[in-house]
Amino acid sequence: MDEKTGKTGKTCMCRGELPGRKALVTGGSRGIGHAIVAKLLSEGADVWYVSRNQSREHNALEDAAECSGGRVTWVGCDISDSDALEKAADRVLAEAGRVDILVNNAGITRDGLIMRMNRDAWDNVLQVNLTSAFVLCRKLARSMARTGGVIINMSSVVGLTGNGGQANYAASKAGLIGFSKSMARELASRNVRVNVVAPGFIDTEMTAVLPDTVKEDLMKKIPLGRLGKVEDVAQAVAFLVSDRASYITGHVLTVDGGMAM
Ligand code: NAP
Repeated sequence: MDEKTGKTGKTCMCRGELPGRKALVTGGSRGIGHAIVAKLLSEGADVWYVSRNQSREHNALEDAAECSGGRVTWVGCDISDSDALEKAADRVLAEAGRVDILVNNAGITRDGLIMRMNRDAWDNVLQVNLTSAFVLCRKLARSMARTGGVIINMSSVVGLTGNGGQANYAASKAGLIGFSKSMARELASRNVRVNVVAPGFIDTEMTAVLPDTVKEDLMKKIPLGRLGKVEDVAQAVAFLVSDRASYITGHVLTVDGGMAM
């Protein structure tokens, strides 16, 4: 265990599993992505997170980075703009030298019944949730294939089960699963592992907007009897990107309190 005192004067006890690893996380400004950034920092990684807004708790992330000897950098980008996203990836590669861990986490919902869903709601959700992952994976696969690496794509149990009112979202999340399994096969011989995390009902801003009746119905379907916490998902990601998961690729790990079993 490494013990040191940071700028803030706090005594830090660091024994991370990912010292010096370079990680890129999309959607790190809040919710699940923010928890993933914090967790990877606590494990000693250097983390670049991509989102339109900087985290309101960016200072706390910097403290966490200082504690563990890593660094955290916000890269402002709207990932629905593929050209801008490629430039953001170029910037990260230039600053980091390589990317060992890629977490395609950013996602949105624009719910509606299929008969009323307009083309913009379809295109927007597919662009942010699925195409951005394609753009980043294509961009970084070559460099990862040289050095080895790990990719996590953030799906959802809805990608496994479907959900009325979420045809666009479910298609994007199911698409991520087929996309990831194909890449896992393509890149395994280059020591690049690709896995999927499929959360259930996690307490974030995305789910806060659901009507109470929908929340109550969802709660009844969770055998463990509680909403998931963002940390529950971050723990799963931290495991899958660690060397403890070195024989796991092409897997879909549900983090859902038993909801989709
Ligand atoms: P959230 O609280 O709404 O956060 C979404 C994140 O994505 C934010 O950091 C947001 O940052 C970023 N983002 C959204 N649109 C973006 C864009 N165009 N460009 C760049 N960044 C963008 O969502 P969450 O609940 O944490 O969900 C994270 C992931 O888990 C998503 O893929 C979601 O589908 C999946 N998931 C969530 C649940 C759940 O119950 N919460 C369940 C299953 C799966 P900015 O707004 O700053 O850009």
